[in-house]
Amino acid sequence: MREKLEEIKKAAVIELKEAVSKEELESLKIKFLGKKGELTKILRGMGGLSKEERPEIGKIANEVREKIEGIISEGLDKIKQIETEQKLKNEVIDISMPGKKQIIGHRNPLDITLRKTEDIFLAMGFTVEDGPEVEYDKYNFEMLNIPKNHPARGEQDTFYIDDNIVLRTQTSPVQIRTMLNQKLPIKMISPGKVYRSDAADATHSPIFYQVEGLVVDKGITFADMKGTLEMYIKKMFGENVKTKFRPHHFPFTEPSAELDISCFACGGDGCTVCKGEGFIEMYGCGMVHPNVLRNCGIDPEVYSGFAFGVGLDRIVMQTLGIDDIRQLYESDMKFLKQF
Ligand SMILES: [Zn+2]
Repeated sequence: MREKLEEIKKAAVIELKEAVSKEELESLKIKFLGKKGELTKILRGMGGLSKEERPEIGKIANEVREKIEGIISEGLDKIKQIETEQKLKNEVIDISMPGKKQIIGHRNPLDITLRKTEDIFLAMGFTVEDGPEVEYDKYNFEMLNIPKNHPARGEQDTFYIDDNIVLRTQTSPVQIRTMLNQKLPIKMISPGKVYRSDAADATHSPIFYQVEGLVVDKGITFADMKGTLEMYIKKMFGENVKTKFRPHHFPFTEPSAELDISCFACGGDGCTVCKGEGFIEMYGCGMVHPNVLRNCGIDPEVYSGFAFGVGLDRIVMQTLGIDDIRQLYESDMKFLKQF
């Protein structure tokens, strides 16, 4: 039996040394030490030994087992180490390789102009209000004194979702929502995207930006509107810019006016930018129509207000000399980086 154990040990040592993979080691472990393994077979035969022989053979068998287990765990360690080295070799980072360039975006001139506008009005005590771009027809038109058959609807090519829901054509519905939901007095601007079903060309875009404003309080007059807008325009375009109010008509204001400002390019002398006029048409404004106040539950005998609006795209294009509105929406870095 002693000889047999020695044989097993020798064979195990030779075979295990040749094993090069985890799988081979595992199967050799089963072969020698498993339930049906060679060493186990020997140990099962120990019952036939004498009392004196048994401890001695048991001791040798244990030594053989320990030796085999030792070789297996050494082998496994070695394989693990080889695998780790291989992995490190494969994952090597070549720090001399050129890096990936991070492309950093650029603020759109629309955004730059919008933030500047917001800052000026915030400094004058206005709030900045937001509202949904998918809007009720009622808020976009009816409550602004533009009923379903009103000719003014024809001037705004509207995207209708259904008979009662539209993509807002102006940010005025935010004024309605503010009058319905907030306490008086109100001093707010509502900047944001608006939609018209226009085909895109150099001067038209189906999406563009508006900034509108509304003030409602007791004793608000046309003079308050003139003062506020003149202050804003000087902060926005410079102290020397002149303003000119011309009578106009809007359904939601009465009286209404268009506000022209002196040309940035020629200062009022007349040039190609202002088409020789010296002034550029920029804003719509007026005193809030009593019907609009009434629609929002505000008594026009007690309260009055003014409202104004402007296309942000037009300001940006005029001030920066951009002649195609589509450039503002194309995210072309070569274009954007100029501003
Ligand atoms: Zn000019």
